[in-house]
Amino acid sequence: MLKIQMETPLVEIDGDEMTRIIWDNIKNILLIPYIDLKTDYYDLCLNNREKTQDLVTKQAAEAIKKYGVGVKCATITPNADRVKEYSLSQMWKSPNGTIRSILDGTVFRAPIMVDGIKPIIPYWEQPIIIARHAYGDVYSGVEKYIPEGGKVFLKFPDGSELLVKDLSSSGVIQAMHNSDASIRSFARSCFNFALDKKMDIWFSAKDTISKIYDHRFKDIFEEIFVNEFKEAFSKLNISYFYTLIDDAVARVIRSKGGFIWACKNYDGDVMSDMLATAFGSLAMMTSVLVSPEGYYEFEAAHGTVTRHYYNHLKGLETSTNSVATIFAWSGALRKRGQLDKNYYLEDFASKLEKATLNTISSGFMTKDLVSLFSENAVKVVSLNTIDFLYKVQENLDKALSNLK
Ligand code: NAP
Ligand code: MG
Repeated sequence: MLKIQMETPLVEIDGDEMTRIIWDNIKNILLIPYIDLKTDYYDLCLNNREKTQDLVTKQAAEAIKKYGVGVKCATITPNADRVKEYSLSQMWKSPNGTIRSILDGTVFRAPIMVDGIKPIIPYWEQPIIIARHAYGDVYSGVEKYIPEGGKVFLKFPDGSELLVKDLSSSGVIQAMHNSDASIRSFARSCFNFALDKKMDIWFSAKDTISKIYDHRFKDIFEEIFVNEFKEAFSKLNISYFYTLIDDAVARVIRSKGGFIWACKNYDGDVMSDMLATAFGSLAMMTSVLVSPEGYYEFEAAHGTVTRHYYNHLKGLETSTNSVATIFAWSGALRKRGQLDKNYYLEDFASKLEKATLNTISSGFMTKDLVSLFSENAVKVVSLNTIDFLYKVQENLDKALSNLK
């Protein structure tokens, strides 16, 4: 069989633990036999981040700026235990945080829906993709407990002051910020992603209560939509819709899905966990970072699955779900194909996704999905990590030979 050719390399960002093992197997079983895989490789395993003093993370982000598309394996974000475990010279920052700050992007999380695994909300027929503004607000707020009470002021660069509260007794105070520049790039990433996905987009905040802070978000979204995106949206027959966060929550639950929901930082943090659970499982959630300039980085939303990795090291059999990592690869290959006008690559990405979903809906899945699967007519077979990938390969071969 002739392999599919690639013109431009994908930026490949390797990672840690169980997902690193899955990564290598996905390449060997599902990609290299079919594609003349060209990648610009960066090894972000914790040992190599230590060895390069984390330079490799920055190089990987710069490479995404150069080539436009990257795919990333889950990586360890070190804490005090990891510093000991890996004898680190310092507690290196989260690679995702570093890459995000270099690309200035927004993270979109999308559930992978499959026949047999029903969302907890029975009305949801299509995925709901959540876009979280990952900058500012309470995440970089300052706060203080004031045991003695008293007057607290905010002081501004022009010398003016604003009384926050005259506390009559003990209490807590918090101040937070956001920047127009960050809100603008958030809005642009969201509208670009909606065009890319050909999906409606909602944005929600609480501008009735927060008449300056949240209202600023609403105004910037509106301004950027009208000036830069309205025409393109109407050509694709998709819409932008602003509503209050409480109204959005109610509408989301009653909806059929099939839209992008843009959220402020805190709302996005909370709602993405709610959606992941309601759609089934974190192991069936993909994540894509989109920069305002249109650079893309695809990954699974879950971590390195440490518990399974320790079992693997002990020689025990594992049944770790590789679906979100497969979809990270297919998402990146599809995007590469679109940018290079490489139809074969795009088509392969879709066939790989279909083969993966067909594997599960025909009853073959990893352990974590067994209890979620509810198709009575189908006999369920629980597979180990690697056998699941070979089963997907079997279905992929069938899909590819149907083509001829
Ligand atoms: P995790 O790796 O997502 O795993 C938490 C638990 O969720 C697992 O123990 C497993 O439950 C279940 N799970 C997650 N993904 C699964 C999969 N693909 N297949 C089957 N089960 C899955 O989160 P964590 O244990 O909190 O974090 C581990 C490491 O990952 C940490 O070092 C953290 O820093 C890192 N992390 C990285 C990223 C990233 O790179 N994007 C994101 C999050 C966390 P059972 O044990 O019950 O089977
Ligand atoms: Mg959260």
